[in-house]
Amino acid sequence: MDRILEGKTGVVFGVANKRSLAWACARSLSDAGMRLAFTYLGDRLEKTVRQLAAELPNSIVLPCDVTQPEQVTEVFEAIGKEFGHLDTVLHAIAFARKEELQGDFYHTTKEGYMLAHEVSAYSLTEITRAALPLMEGREGTIVTLSYIGADRVIPGYNVMGIAKAALEASVRYLAADLGPRGIRVNAISAGPVRTLSASGVKDFSKRLDNVADRTALRRNVTAEEVGDACLFLTGPHSRGITGSVLFVDAGFHIMG
Ligand code: NAP
Repeated sequence: MDRILEGKTGVVFGVANKRSLAWACARSLSDAGMRLAFTYLGDRLEKTVRQLAAELPNSIVLPCDVTQPEQVTEVFEAIGKEFGHLDTVLHAIAFARKEELQGDFYHTTKEGYMLAHEVSAYSLTEITRAALPLMEGREGTIVTLSYIGADRVIPGYNVMGIAKAALEASVRYLAADLGPRGIRVNAISAGPVRTLSASGVKDFSKRLDNVADRTALRRNVTAEEVGDACLFLTGPHSRGITGSVLFVDAGFHIMG
């Protein structure tokens, strides 16, 4: 692997365990030379995230629940002290209550709708705003993770599909805001991968099998493939790309 990100720094939101897409992305970025900060949600995940982060050179670990604005502020204060600057933000978090991910979408409660949007969509804007002072003048990159449920009705995805549509629209507005500063903002729309969050979606295993038969490549994508797409969108080879949603789904989105 070429060390194309040597001397660069990044922060990764969304590692829960070694299956997390955020972890696959972090490995690709670290292998290319980037120094990383990781955030974790709650004491429950701290040990796992610290153990994983210890595998990557010079990484740091910080608590952050994105529903607590002061924790978002504290993350970037700590990164400022430790790194001095920031080149990359990877946003790989999403949440909806399990009961909102089954049955008819129209049963979604206002509370469940707001929570899904707060964690899965609004947090990108809040994190971007907090990161900006550290990213000034560095031609940085922001990458988030989405899903085709933003564009199409996927059974069981329900309110998360609406939140992902808001997330993808946020990518376009943020890209337009930050383009003049040389900062690029993009999303990866990943095919289904077995992770902790994915297990909350009803019949996820069945979905994995169905999708594998219906992709152009006739297989599912791997977390590593998502990680390498993240490296592409973070590094210099994608320098002309911003405001885009890149499908990393083995060609599922082109099939009729
Ligand atoms: P994951 O390993 O479970 O990661 C999701 C992360 O979001 C977890 O670390 C989770 O913490 C965190 N999170 C939830 N609420 C949070 C909050 N309030 N503050 C901070 N962090 C919070 O699952 P994943 O599949 O890798 O998901 C990463 C991203 O990829 C998500 O945006 C997901 O929608 C997207 N994606 C996944 C797939 C797939 O098939 N896996 C496909 C397309 C897109 P907890 O575990 O404690 O809740």
